[in-house]
Amino acid sequence: MDGIDGKVVVVTGGSSGLGEATAKLLAERGAKVMLGARREENLERIVSEIKEDGGTASYRVTDVTNKDQVENLVAGAVDEFGRIDVLVNNAGLMPLSPLEALKIDEWERMVDVNIKGVLYGIAAALPRMQEQHSGQFINLSSVAGHVVFPNSAVYSGTKYAVWAISEGLRQEVGEEIRTTTISPGAVQSELTTHITHEETAEGTSALEDMAIDADAVARAIAYAIEQPKDVDTNEIVLRPTAQPL
Ligand code: NDP
Repeated sequence: MDGIDGKVVVVTGGSSGLGEATAKLLAERGAKVMLGARREENLERIVSEIKEDGGTASYRVTDVTNKDQVENLVAGAVDEFGRIDVLVNNAGLMPLSPLEALKIDEWERMVDVNIKGVLYGIAAALPRMQEQHSGQFINLSSVAGHVVFPNSAVYSGTKYAVWAISEGLRQEVGEEIRTTTISPGAVQSELTTHITHEETAEGTSALEDMAIDADAVARAIAYAIEQPKDVDTNEIVLRPTAQPL
């Protein structure tokens, strides 16, 4: 199946920001979307907004650090919509801080969500895509998965890992299954609201001022999906025009 219309797309972290914008755009373009995240009230609102606009959507409350819940999310898409064409591994968090602040709980959380969450998504979707002989993984890395800044060491580490895992996956299963890494710069979302290190939080205001709309990322994801099946868009890097790094 080419294009977007009729495809079954699972989006992790679908309760705000990039995930919400992506789910809405893809549903508008005819995809059947299955959303996973922890905040049920947000998922309920987004699914009903999509349905009100004539789209098809459902959700499963999902913590991506729990592999059974990720399996349940993907199984839910197959149960309700019959297959899984695309998994957007989008759930992530970015509590930036200097290493010397020793925010070890936050390091662990980033590893669990940003890396292990992506791996659990691959574990749930890959066997089903292999059985179908088609499918696409869209994994959210970041500009911070290409460059490291002070205070981004652990976050960047997780996003470099997403890049590496995606590239390995592409080389291993690329004959039938497409893998796309999306690496955005500053985009409007709730991402910076979870920074607990005060000086670092203050330092992100310049980036927040130049942040582009989450729709820009949704459009990049739509582009990667809508290409003919013999075209695998391996990576898209997009950032605000004004963002230097
Ligand atoms: P948001 O904070 O708005 O969204 C993050 C999403 O991840 C939410 O839906 C949240 O849902 C979900 N999430 C967090 N933890 C978990 C968990 N344990 N289980 C399931 N879902 C979880 O930020 P963005 O939309 O910006 O972030 C989306 C992705 O984009 C992330 O991977 C981020 O690293 C990446 N990115 C963002 C950039 C930006 O500038 N905004 C730039 C580069 C990359 P809930 O809390 O309901 O579980």
